[in-house]
Amino acid sequence: MVILPSLDSTPGFQALAQSNPLQYRIVRAAINRLDLAFQSSIQVSEWIRFCSEFEELASWLGDQPNPPSRADILRTYRELKSSFSWPDDLAERYVTELERKERGRPRSNRRVVMLALEQRELNPTLSWMQLTIRFCACGKDMHDMRCRERIRQMALNLKRTLDRLGV
Ligand SMILES: [Zn+2]
Repeated sequence: MVILPSLDSTPGFQALAQSNPLQYRIVRAAINRLDLAFQSSIQVSEWIRFCSEFEELASWLGDQPNPPSRADILRTYRELKSSFSWPDDLAERYVTELERKERGRPRSNRRVVMLALEQRELNPTLSWMQLTIRFCACGKDMHDMRCRERIRQMALNLKRTLDRLGV
């Protein structure tokens, strides 16, 4: 049993392909890694590779303005659990680990960088400064060249990662 085919048949997910094509590709690639990691015949070294690729891809989707609550994550897990025969306490352990990692961690810029790269792919005539003005979350009133360079470098980083992972 794998997740990706059922996700692909979800209308909301197809709508995401239209509105946010890069985000859609990253979500698909991340879920694909999860599916691969949960194959029954998996070797430990492959399992580690798929999990780290999942984490890398998912890190560009994080820091949403309204992240799902603990209750949301657990509810989703319970809904999926019956289909996949996952252990009872796996979701609890996962959420606890997430919360431990999140505590005190500065918000990363990764999600806004991913959205900026997506806009650039949709509209290549947009300059990095235009994208910075739209997406930079530094909090300053005026974004400067340092903001622009930070967004541009991180976006190139993301592009390289996606190329390497074939996304
Ligand atoms: Zn800025």
